[in-house]
Amino acid sequence: MTTIAHAYASPSPDGDLVPTTIKRRDVGPHDVLIEIKYSGICHSDIHTVRGEWGPQAYPLVPGHEIAGIVTEVGTEVTKHAVGDRVGVGCMVNSCGECKNCKAGDEQYCLNGTVGTYGVTDRDGTITQGGYSTHIVVTEDFVLRIPDGIDLDVVAPLLCAGITTYSPLNRWGAGPGKKVAVVGLGGLGHMAVQLAHAMGAEVTVLSQSLKKQEDGLRLGADRYYATSDEATFTELAGYFDLIINTVSASIDISAFLGLLTVDGAMVNVGAPAEPLPVNAMALIGGRRSFAGSMIGGIPETQEMLDFCAEHGIGAEIELISADKINDAYERVLSSDVRYRFVIDTATLV
Ligand code: NAP
Ligand code: ZN
Repeated sequence: MTTIAHAYASPSPDGDLVPTTIKRRDVGPHDVLIEIKYSGICHSDIHTVRGEWGPQAYPLVPGHEIAGIVTEVGTEVTKHAVGDRVGVGCMVNSCGECKNCKAGDEQYCLNGTVGTYGVTDRDGTITQGGYSTHIVVTEDFVLRIPDGIDLDVVAPLLCAGITTYSPLNRWGAGPGKKVAVVGLGGLGHMAVQLAHAMGAEVTVLSQSLKKQEDGLRLGADRYYATSDEATFTELAGYFDLIINTVSASIDISAFLGLLTVDGAMVNVGAPAEPLPVNAMALIGGRRSFAGSMIGGIPETQEMLDFCAEHGIGAEIELISADKINDAYERVLSSDVRYRFVIDTATLV
């Protein structure tokens, strides 16, 4: 049966989001119908709906940090049951057959990952995201939420959590490693908690010291303001790994100077503008500058289990749907502590 979901959609790149209703497809044999309870607001939603990453099909319902309850399953579904607590992140399908999908890196599907919103789905419709009351997703892209972690603080893990867990994991954050996190926003505050739980020494590099107390409480050992030039001399050559979560173009070469020999700076922030890099900053120190996009489904499940085991969740400000446009403005002015999460009961 087709489900009519209440939602908030962006009508155009420059208009406020407005209430609407959307149709969710019939539950197919491998599909799961989820009643969404909470939906996080990621800075990527703003980049996307405002057309910064390219033209979109409007109206567009954003949202890829989804937590809810299964209310119906298809006849062939084996992984989830009615009543289960589940999550959906940035993707809802991939080919399942290319070498990247087979390796569990569905986010790099060679035949095109189907994003949770704004992407042509296999049935030719445009996907619509989590700022809505219901969603239908094929079971392989639905994650299990472990017991002991509340659904509201789990929602942001589905993007902010996995996007920072994956590079921390891959580049070996752990005991004896010095990790810096640039930007203490949605992604940054997850990176701090995760790197600390992995056993690394963690430093926050924020524009100012305004959020220092929070950063230290979240698990940072040190906290510096990048507006203070002394930060760049004091910390020169210090870090093994820098995770850059900043949503704007910053002076990457200045940060590369903070890496030790063989150190890596991994960019997860995704500004539309290019990030110029001075080759000398890489060459002098055999340093790497890399990127990373969310994480695959198996690693996302691993991250959720890790968070439950370590008591990690997002720090959230729960909002009603009519505050979504205000929340966007606050994210844009770095006034977020540390993720806005929509209570989807207010969409109705
Ligand atoms: P956010 O909550 O807005 O956090 C970004 C933080 O960057 C801000 O809180 C601020 O931290 C810092 N910042 C913002 N503007 C800055 C500027 N002009 N100069 C220096 N620092 C600045 O955003 P988010 O949701 O964490 O997302 C961050 C970025 O990651 C976005 O570009 C988003 O699209 C991208 N993203 C990428 C992936 C991926 O797969 N790679 C996944 C999700 C999101 P301070 O106040 O502490 O300086
Ligand atoms: Zn996101």
